[in-house]
Amino acid sequence: MKYIVSACLAGERCRYDGNSNTNDTIKVMVENNLAIPVCPEVLGGLPVPRVRCELRKNNNGCPEIKGKDGNDYTEPFTRGALLSLETAKKNGTTQAILKSKSPSCGFGFIYDGTFSGKLIEGNGITADLFIKSGIKIFTEQEFEKLQSAVKTTS
Ligand code: SF4
Repeated sequence: MKYIVSACLAGERCRYDGNSNTNDTIKVMVENNLAIPVCPEVLGGLPVPRVRCELRKNNNGCPEIKGKDGNDYTEPFTRGALLSLETAKKNGTTQAILKSKSPSCGFGFIYDGTFSGKLIEGNGITADLFIKSGIKIFTEQEFEKLQSAVKTTS
């Protein structure tokens, strides 16, 4: 069973600031065809580099993505989430390792939408769609812990 992984964890320089979040284990998994990298924000049509964005709830309680420039980026983020899910489904994937805290990939905790570095409980747009579609998510830290536990017991 292949994992879907955040492309920045696999070494792709697709972050908003043009950098990656390379995780050596995940990079090797992609190189060995054990994982499929996706960057929902790039899939949604956004460039690299791009405006930094955060997720927050609007007045109706619905999630929306706002850029630091004040513009609304909910549409490309949502399109990227749908295309990422399509990739997972096409490959029969039911597990994902996603970059923590991101407004797309974050799982469990994300930035609170004020660009102040404060974290709140919640999921990014793509992570939320994956959960609703039955895909099990690990953050890169959870995956590393799991790997260490397996190594310790074997
Ligand atoms: Fe990484 Fe996800 Fe952000 Fe793309 S959208 S840069 S894969 S955290």
